[in-house]
Amino acid sequence: MAHRIVVLGGGTGGTLTANRLRRLFSPAAATITVVDQDDEHIYQPGLLFVPFGLADPAEIVRPRGRQLHDGIDYHQSGVDQVDIAADEVHLADGTLLAYDALVIATGSTLVPEETEGLTGAGWMEKVFTFYSLPGATALRSALAAFRGGRLVVNVVDLPIKCPVAPLEFCFLADWYFHQRGIRDRIQLTYVTPLDGAFTKPVASKTLAGLLEQKGIELVTEFNTGEVDGSGGRLVSYDEREIAFDLAVTIPVHSGAAYVGRSSGLGDELNFVPTDEHTLQSHAKPNIFVIGDAANLPASKAGSVTHFEGEVLVNNLWRFLDGQELDASFDGHTNCFIETGFHEAMLIDFNYDTEPLPGHFPTSVGLPLLKESHLNHLGKLMFQWFYWHSLLPGHPIPGIPSGMPHAGKHYPARVDRAPTATN
Ligand SMILES: Cc1cc2nc3c(=O)[nH]c(=O)nc-3n(C[C@H](O)[C@H](O)[C@H](O)COP(=O)(O)OP(=O)(O)OC[C@H]3O[C@@H](n4cnc5c(N)ncnc54)[C@H](O)[C@@H]3O)c2cc1C
Repeated sequence: MAHRIVVLGGGTGGTLTANRLRRLFSPAAATITVVDQDDEHIYQPGLLFVPFGLADPAEIVRPRGRQLHDGIDYHQSGVDQVDIAADEVHLADGTLLAYDALVIATGSTLVPEETEGLTGAGWMEKVFTFYSLPGATALRSALAAFRGGRLVVNVVDLPIKCPVAPLEFCFLADWYFHQRGIRDRIQLTYVTPLDGAFTKPVASKTLAGLLEQKGIELVTEFNTGEVDGSGGRLVSYDEREIAFDLAVTIPVHSGAAYVGRSSGLGDELNFVPTDEHTLQSHAKPNIFVIGDAANLPASKAGSVTHFEGEVLVNNLWRFLDGQELDASFDGHTNCFIETGFHEAMLIDFNYDTEPLPGHFPTSVGLPLLKESHLNHLGKLMFQWFYWHSLLPGHPIPGIPSGMPHAGKHYPARVDRAPTATN
């Protein structure tokens, strides 16, 4: 009998997993069903560009079913809960899907209502987020109307998707207001709960230097407890206050709510405890997890999701075949950091190696931790690769799943020491 494989979530991870699985298993060997709650596949890295008029909202959205290969069933419904004891998924539309193997790819969800005042007075008037399509679109009008004052970019708490995106927003805002000839009338402030600009020491130092060079104030260790939209104030738990005229917030993230309703599946934030090398869940051997939904100590990023795909699909096949799993996922993360004025940096790291200077993927290649026009072009090209290579489940030529060491400049003594990740 054909194996029944169910994939929850038809975003980056669910789509690339289903497409890879379809190539691996013949239709007689497995049925593959993808479930998602809506039919709008958003190219999320494009959300960064929408507020600055550098991307059109319509250009970054495509129907989900069209990204899935022939022979994959697409079912549009919310997930109500997973019964891990019975190997069944209950959907919000009443459908029950029984499975032999389940892939959880339902990503992370924004929960702005977790922060006092955030969605109260001023929300979508002078407090915005670019982490959703409606938010990014509304922010575009607000930025266009902004002629002077203090713009604060605030990461409320970690983990978040694409931890460098808020920094990129600051750099692009600096560029945008320069273009409009009003940069000297605008105070830009980046407010983070971290003790530096980023989680890893070498990159943190470089990025803090760049913020300073561009005249962007950095406020660290600020744990936002309240957002007072009408008064224009961020208030931290230790009662510090930061005034703003316009606030761009990155709200608290959690896993999907159904994870919390599914006994034994998730943690207290509704992320799914997962083996960091095999991508098998801790909940049950026939459940695998890809992308932001997992509680891994890796960044929540599309690049990570792509690199995970190869190991996960291989392991799902091994599991159904009764073989030992491959424990080779190394936490590989690769992110372009747009820095404005048609330049970008690139960082490449994994569980054990923090972002270092050098070149990627070998000693001749894109500069690491250094601004360059080539990296900016790489960032722009990523959208093409997303639709035509990542989602169809193809490897990107010359870019391996595991992190390449060649080209990186390792410091003499702190060689390959494990670092905390996000
Ligand atoms: C502003 C921004 C900029 C970014 N920039 C970059 C970048 O430059 N580079 C990079 O690598 N990454 C970037 N990312 C991160 C990247 O988009 C995500 O990490 C990636 O999409 C994760 O894939 P995923 O499959 O885990 O989740 P998603 O792609 O978010 O997919 C999750 C899917 O699950 C569905 N779902 C959720 N709950 C349910 C439910 N209950 N029932 C049914 N369906 C459900 C959702 O509708 C969604 O389609 C960025 C993200 C943002 C927000």
